[in-house]
Amino acid sequence: MIPIPPIPSYENSLDKPEEACGVFGIYAPGEDVAKLAYFGLYALQHRGQESAGIATFAGTQLHLHKDMGLVSQVFNESILDELLGGIAIGHTRYSTTGSSRKVNAQPAVVESRLGLVAVSHNGNLVNTWQLRQELLHNNCNLVTTTDSEMIALAIAQEINAGLDWLDGCVQAFHRCQGAFSLVIGTSNGLMGVRDPHGIRPLVIGILPGNPGRYVLASETCGLDIIGAEYLRDVEPGELVWITEAGLASYHWSPQHQRKLCIFEMIYFARPDSVMHNESLYSYRLRLGRQLAAESPVAADMVLGVPDSGIPAAIGFSEATGIRYAEGLIKNRYVGRTFIQPTQAMRELGIRVKLNPLKDVLSGKRVIIVDDSIVRGTTSRKLVKALRDAGAAEVHMRISSPPVTHPCFYGIDTDTQDQLIAATKSVAEISQQLEVDSLAYLSWEGMLEATREDTNSFCSACFTGDYPVAIPDQVKRSKLILEKVGV
Ligand code: SF4
Repeated sequence: MIPIPPIPSYENSLDKPEEACGVFGIYAPGEDVAKLAYFGLYALQHRGQESAGIATFAGTQLHLHKDMGLVSQVFNESILDELLGGIAIGHTRYSTTGSSRKVNAQPAVVESRLGLVAVSHNGNLVNTWQLRQELLHNNCNLVTTTDSEMIALAIAQEINAGLDWLDGCVQAFHRCQGAFSLVIGTSNGLMGVRDPHGIRPLVIGILPGNPGRYVLASETCGLDIIGAEYLRDVEPGELVWITEAGLASYHWSPQHQRKLCIFEMIYFARPDSVMHNESLYSYRLRLGRQLAAESPVAADMVLGVPDSGIPAAIGFSEATGIRYAEGLIKNRYVGRTFIQPTQAMRELGIRVKLNPLKDVLSGKRVIIVDDSIVRGTTSRKLVKALRDAGAAEVHMRISSPPVTHPCFYGIDTDTQDQLIAATKSVAEISQQLEVDSLAYLSWEGMLEATREDTNSFCSACFTGDYPVAIPDQVKRSKLILEKVGV
């Protein structure tokens, strides 16, 4: 098998924020944990497509395989057969901290006084500069440029100072600031952890049959695929430690306040994943209904931008009575392409991924619903493609508010100067996209549709109100990295 190095290209991302990572863990002695982890990661592939990895523990022995590429490219039967043991952790990655290189693939593995520790991380620390200095000061050997390795090294450092697994990990987590949902494997057991704000999701499941076999996953779709039953979320500031004694819970951070990333609900997480007792599909339908109530417009049909805009488009259609139609066909039969398109192809627009149906669109007034606009480049091409296909009017409706601030918690939303809504009014964006009308969902409407306490979400990319303060150094570094193209 020759791993294929991923090269980000315009048709891969469709100008969308990129999710950072998916994490998975399983404690099931006697089961083929490597294969179960493989399928868990397979379900979480949407959370990161650059690299994948699985580490298993058979007693004190660790088996590890990780590489660049999709889960299906990185693993095959014979590789999985060599990943022996009763505990496995896995990871799918999209790089936010640390560039896209094999050495940065996860799980990160380091050695400690009590044995090897493997860490899979979803999120982004905002105090990496400080943590890095601390680690270097203590002669830690930093091999990668990821914050995930720093967390693993911080754990090892605490353990080496004489603490046990539990206290060592808690001590290390207190040194981390930002977003971190972690799955940690040791020879003794499996650990699941969320930062005090629970910015990234992490759920616990249980395998049917013998008791004591637990699963941890970024989303419930990672449980469903292996037949595990959803038990509950790991709470913000909670640590669950799964060993042969069962599952023990510790609230490691006395100060915790739930601030789940609202973008997980709007776009990142799979629509069949369940958060707060309902599928995200249902939440996204409500976003569409709310959007219709706030910004109706006369039209002949409602389209959704495949796939993530479709639930909101159906909600919009239900609320207005304007029929929902499929006017854009997505090429679903190929995986991610790693070949850069030619300049001429770029100019043709987005047709590698989406193709409009001329006979459906010709002469029609169209409402096109999408979940977000980041730079606006793809939206513009999409509008042009609809007009080229004969649409008489194109009205764009967005099921989230304008993205005006970058994310520092593990989502790649670009730097502020590249976010179209950070520098342009809705009228100016409308003009740039060449739509007949443009409307975003209100911030209040987005939160209202959650049916939850509106304080329990991070919505900083719409407001700039960051739940964990962002050091100036970090803001600057994001800008620098973007400018040098990392
Ligand atoms: S800043 Fe935006 S994308 Fe980042 S965690 Fe908050 S809501 Fe999510």
